[in-house]
Amino acid sequence: MRLETLAIHAAHAPDPSTGALAPPIVLSTTFERDPDGGYSRGHYYARNGNPGRAGLEGAIAALETGAGAVALASGSAASAAVFSLLAPGDHVLVGGDCYYGTINQLQGPFARIGITHGRVDMTRLSSVAERINRQTRLLWVESPSNPLLSVADLAGLARLAHEHGAQLACDNTFATPVLQRPFALGADLVVHSTTKYMGGHSDVMGGVVVTREAGEDLKRLRTHQGVLGAVPSGFDCWLLRRSLATLPLRIRQQSENALAVARAVAQHRNVTAVHYPGLESHPGHALARTQMSAFGAMLSLQVRGGEPAAFAVAAGTRLFTRATSLGGVESLIEHRASVESAESRTPRDLLRLSIGLEHAQDLIDDLTQALDGINP
Ligand SMILES: *Cc1c(COP(=O)(O)O)cnc(C)c1O
Repeated sequence: MRLETLAIHAAHAPDPSTGALAPPIVLSTTFERDPDGGYSRGHYYARNGNPGRAGLEGAIAALETGAGAVALASGSAASAAVFSLLAPGDHVLVGGDCYYGTINQLQGPFARIGITHGRVDMTRLSSVAERINRQTRLLWVESPSNPLLSVADLAGLARLAHEHGAQLACDNTFATPVLQRPFALGADLVVHSTTKYMGGHSDVMGGVVVTREAGEDLKRLRTHQGVLGAVPSGFDCWLLRRSLATLPLRIRQQSENALAVARAVAQHRNVTAVHYPGLESHPGHALARTQMSAFGAMLSLQVRGGEPAAFAVAAGTRLFTRATSLGGVESLIEHRASVESAESRTPRDLLRLSIGLEHAQDLIDDLTQALDGINP
C-alpha cells in the first residue's frame, strides 16, 4: 500500500467489540487478569502497553517502512532512548547544527556516564570520515537540520557508519516519512519528535524511535520504554494516530507554502539570507532533490540590522505567532539564538519560520509588511 493509504488504514480497523470507526480512547492504567493469572487479551499495565499505543506504533512503523516503533512521551525521550543503547566508552558523532536539546543530552547526562561525543559538519562526508574513531558507535544526523536547514547525504553517511561498525540514526522530524525515507537510504534508526508534524496541531507532545530491523535494538528499546517509563498517555496516542491520517496532505501543502514564502522573502531588501533547501541557491538543493520528494516547511532567514532588527520583524508580524516549536497548522516565527543555550552557534540575526496551512500569499504579505517596517 502507498503512504497515503497507510496513513489512514495501517494498524487501524473498526473496534471489534462495538464497530466504532474511530478507535476508543483507552485511559485505563490497568487491565483484568484471566482466572489462571494470564493476560490473554494482551495488556496488563498501561506503562507497558495499551491498545492506542500499539496502534500508533504500528502505523508509524508502516509509514517509515521499519520493523517496529517505540512511542515515547516526547522527542527528547526518543533521543534519550537511542543514546541509552550505548555503553560507557562509546562515542557519538552528531551534526554541528542539530536540535540543541539533543546536544544538551550528550553534553549533560550521557557525558556523565562516559558516553563521549563530537560535533561535525554532517554535510561534509570527508570531515565525518576524519572524525570517526574506533569507539564511534553512532552517527546522529538531522536533515534538513535545525535551524540552518543544511542537507546531509544520508546514503553516504550510512555507508560510512557501516564501514566503521557504527549505526546511523536519523532525526526525520523536519522531513517526515512523506518527504524522506531514511531506511531506504541505509539508516538503522529513525527518530521523530511527533510533537511536530505528526501531531500537526500544536496540542500533543510525543516522540518515537523506529528501527529498520526487528533485532536486538528494538527489543532493548521496548524494554527501555517500560522500565524508564517516559510513555505517552492513551489520549496522546489517540490524538497522534488521528493526526497521521492527514500528515501527507498537510506536509505537502505546507512545503508548497514554504517554497512560495522562501522565494518571496529572498527578494526583500532587508533580508540578507534565506535558508531553504527548495531554493536553487541553497548549497544542499541538488542533494535534497535526490533524497526528498519536497523540501519541507521550515525555513530560516537572516535580516539586515542584526538581532534588534530580527526582534522587530518578529514583533511586526500579525499572522505569524512568536513561539517556539514547529509543524502545526499555524505559522510560527522565532528568534532562535535567544531560545537556545548561551553557547548557541545560531546567527543572532536569524529568524526561524514554521510555515503552516494559511494561504501562502497572506503569509508573504504579512512578512513583507513586517520587513518593510524596519529601518536597519
Ligand atoms: C522538537 C525537536 C526535538 C525534541 O522533541 P520534543 O518533543 O520537544 O522533546 C528533537 N528533534 C527535533 C528536530 C525537533 O524539532
